Amino acid sequence: MDRKQNYIKNLFAPEDNNLLKALERTKKTTEPIQISPTDGKFLQLIIKLGSIKNIVEIGTLGGYSSLWISKALPNDGHLYTIELDDERFALAQKSLKNISNITQLHGNAKKILPTLEDKAPFDMIFIDADKRQYNDYLDWAELHIRKGGIIIADNTLLSGSLWLEENEELPYRIKRSTVEMMKKFNARLADPQKYCGTLLPTKDGITLAVKLF
Ligand code: MG
Repeated sequence: MDRKQNYIKNLFAPEDNNLLKALERTKKTTEPIQISPTDGKFLQLIIKLGSIKNIVEIGTLGGYSSLWISKALPNDGHLYTIELDDERFALAQKSLKNISNITQLHGNAKKILPTLEDKAPFDMIFIDADKRQYNDYLDWAELHIRKGGIIIADNTLLSGSLWLEENEELPYRIKRSTVEMMKKFNARLADPQKYCGTLLPTKDGITLAVKLF
């Protein structure tokens, strides 16, 4: 973390014991790809600004982002967080036990999302999972988030691949087809007829958009 990031993190987004423990557990997995503390604080700010209560998170990983979200929710708020991977689900169970405003769901989000529809409309969806499925998750979010609700997605700059020319080499593990899917995803949320959105140039990009219809 550079000095600028460190200054902001220390001042605005210090991590409590629960967050530090979740981070430590996540670091033991193969890919420590949780959001940054300042991203976590940003999610909290959005929740407070939008009077958000009812949230779906796709991609729990170790529960680090879920903890940030959970702390910003009002008393009657709730987070439903979905994780496909067995190991990550178990990891998050450790970090999220005793947290009463989070429901952890284990399995394929495309199968689990329809089971949440009786809790819709949601105020916010946070997408931080398999990048190839982002458009499918957006299809669901468009239908099940209220007007004025917020869609947020992480890693939407896809390791700096979105502006590369055809003849340029893609970053490690990024496929051309995924690049096309992410371009489509961002373009959908850039449509001013349907959303007021932007893409924050964080390390790997966060797209966020308010649903206008
Ligand atoms: Mg991410």
